[in-house]
Amino acid sequence: MERKHNFYAGPAVLPVEVIEEVQKDLVNYKGCGVSVMEMSHRSKDFQAIIDDGMSTMKKLMGIGDDFEILFLQGGASTQFLMVPMNLCADGKVANYIDTGAWATKAIKEAEKAGKKVHVAATSKDKDFTYIPKEFKLSENPAYLHITTNNTIRGSEYHHIPEVPADVPLIADMSSNFLSKPMDFSKFSLIYAGAQKNIGPAGSTVVIIRKDMIEKLNTGLPTMLSYKTHLDKGSLFNTPPSFTIYVISRVLAWIDRNGGLEGIKKLNEEKGAELYGVFDSSDFYNGTVAKDDRSLMNVPFRLANTDLEPKFIEEATAKGMLGLKGHRSVGGVRASIYNACPLASVKALCEFMKEFEKNNK
Ligand code: PMP
Repeated sequence: MERKHNFYAGPAVLPVEVIEEVQKDLVNYKGCGVSVMEMSHRSKDFQAIIDDGMSTMKKLMGIGDDFEILFLQGGASTQFLMVPMNLCADGKVANYIDTGAWATKAIKEAEKAGKKVHVAATSKDKDFTYIPKEFKLSENPAYLHITTNNTIRGSEYHHIPEVPADVPLIADMSSNFLSKPMDFSKFSLIYAGAQKNIGPAGSTVVIIRKDMIEKLNTGLPTMLSYKTHLDKGSLFNTPPSFTIYVISRVLAWIDRNGGLEGIKKLNEEKGAELYGVFDSSDFYNGTVAKDDRSLMNVPFRLANTDLEPKFIEEATAKGMLGLKGHRSVGGVRASIYNACPLASVKALCEFMKEFEKNNK
C-alpha cells in the first residue's frame, strides 16, 4: 500500500495501524455481527466503546473523577459559543488572550453571545508571531481563555499561564491536544476538535472540571447547554459514534506508544529535524519567535517567496501533501501531528535540502 506523506492541518494523518485495525473490524465489529457504523448508540457494545475512550483519555491525561469528558458535535467552532454561553454569568467579563485567527474567532463569538469581553493580552502587534507572556485580567473575570496552539501561525504555549485560584482557565487545545504531558488539572475546561491529533472529523472533546458544573448558566437552548450532555453521558442525542470509536482506537495507540511522554519525545524529535533545516539555512525562514514555536504546525517562508509555488508543486509531486500555508497567511506549513511518522518529516527535510541546492 502506497501511503503519502501527510502534512494536512486537519483532518490530518492518523496512525496507519489504527486505520488497519478499524478496517479489520469494519464489517463485523468484534463478532457483534454489525459494523460500529450500524450499531445503536444505546447498545451495550457502543457503551463499552465510549467508556473505553473516556477512561483511556483520563489515564493519558492523568486526571481522575473530578473531570467529566464529553464528545460533542459542531466542531471547536461551536465551543467558541458554548463556552461564553455556559460559563460567563451576567455581570461577569469573558477574558481572552488573542494569539491569532482562532482565538480572534472565539472572542467574536463571545461578543455575539452578548457577553462583555476583555482582551487580556494580544500578539497582534507582531502579526501573531509570538505568545504573550503577560496578561492583565479585567475586573470580575468569568474566566481566562487561551488557545494553546495556533494552527495557522504555528505558535504554541510552552507554559500554562498562572491565574488567580478563583479564575477558571479555559483552553482551546484543538491542534496540540494530547501531544505532550501537561498539568491538565490546572484547566477548568478544555476543548479540542478531534480531527488533528486524536481522530477523524466529527467530534469535539470537551473536558470539564466537576467544580464548574454547579456554576454553569441555566435556561440555555438544550443542545447548547453543557448540562444536557453531562446529564446523559454524551448520549442525549445520537453522537458521532463512528468517530468516537476511532478516537478510542487512537487513544489506545498513544497509550501503547509510551503515553504522552512517548508522544512528546517523538514530537520533539520531529520538530528538531524540521526546525533544524531552516535554522541552518538562509534559504528558508521561520516565522515564529523561537521560544514559542509549535511542534504541531511548522510554518516557514522561502527567502525568495516567488519560489514557494514551485516548492509546493515539487513536494506534492514527491508525495508530500498539505504543505500550502493557510490561505490567510500564505507561505509553507507542515503540520506534523502525533501520528505523522518521523520518516515523513525526514523525507520533507531531505526534499528541502535538495530544493535549496537546485534553486540557490
Ligand atoms: N481552534 C483551532 C485552534 C483550530 O485549529 C480550529 C480548526 N482548524 C478550530 C478551532 C475550529 O475547529 P472546527 O473546524 O472543528 O470548528
